[in-house]
Amino acid sequence: MIRFDIISAIPDFFNGPLTTSIIKRAQDKKLVEIYVHNLRDYAYDRHKQIDDKPFGGEPGMVLKPEPFFECIEKLLAEREYQNIIFTSPQGIIFNQETAKKISLEKNAIIVAGRYKGIDERVREKFATVDISIGNFVLSGGEIAAVVVVDSVIRLIPKVLNDSESALNDSFMDGELLSAPVYTRPAEYKGMGVPEVLLSGNEKLIKEWKAKQSIIITENWKKINRME
Ligand code: SAH
Repeated sequence: MIRFDIISAIPDFFNGPLTTSIIKRAQDKKLVEIYVHNLRDYAYDRHKQIDDKPFGGEPGMVLKPEPFFECIEKLLAEREYQNIIFTSPQGIIFNQETAKKISLEKNAIIVAGRYKGIDERVREKFATVDISIGNFVLSGGEIAAVVVVDSVIRLIPKVLNDSESALNDSFMDGELLSAPVYTRPAEYKGMGVPEVLLSGNEKLIKEWKAKQSIIITENWKKINRME
């Protein structure tokens, strides 16, 4: 059982991503617990204000430190956390290796920012790691939190059934990507599927897939200018 506590200023965002399909099933099967904490519930002032103008006079708003301190300290008083993940375009770029590492742990807090970001003192005090989902800027950390939770959950034993198995997915074996997939009909609008897949010869199919993986991985490195 892995536990995620997500802190967000817009908790409604997660209705859908966390309540359907594989993530829902994983929670129903008690393989994962996910709690979404509404930042506003931890604001002390009457107006439940969670943001304020930045010092230094830039445009935009900054999420205030107090609600985060209140929320994170409450969680830390209840249990120990192995990871306190801050979503940020300035973090380490998330990949399958990081997903695997997180999937072996017991729990994590994931903090989603908004606007110009979170008051830096919150990060300094609590962050064990900053995670970016890529070199672009999102409007908020919620999508990044869902990316982390989804990719981690599918690695937890028994979450996927056999037919969905994660073991032969891309990146499971180093950087190797998976071979293309086809299903019926075998002939569609004049387009066939590779003969070998229809041959029933397991050895040949395995060899074909291995070769395709290498070709696809090499091309992927080229289009991503990695060599
Ligand atoms: N002013 C910041 C960007 C803030 S974007 C800067 O220039 O670096 C608002 C929030 O969206 C961030 O606090 C973070 O939680 C989230 N976010 C934006 N881009 C992200 C990315 N690439 N990966 C993960 N989280 C991201």
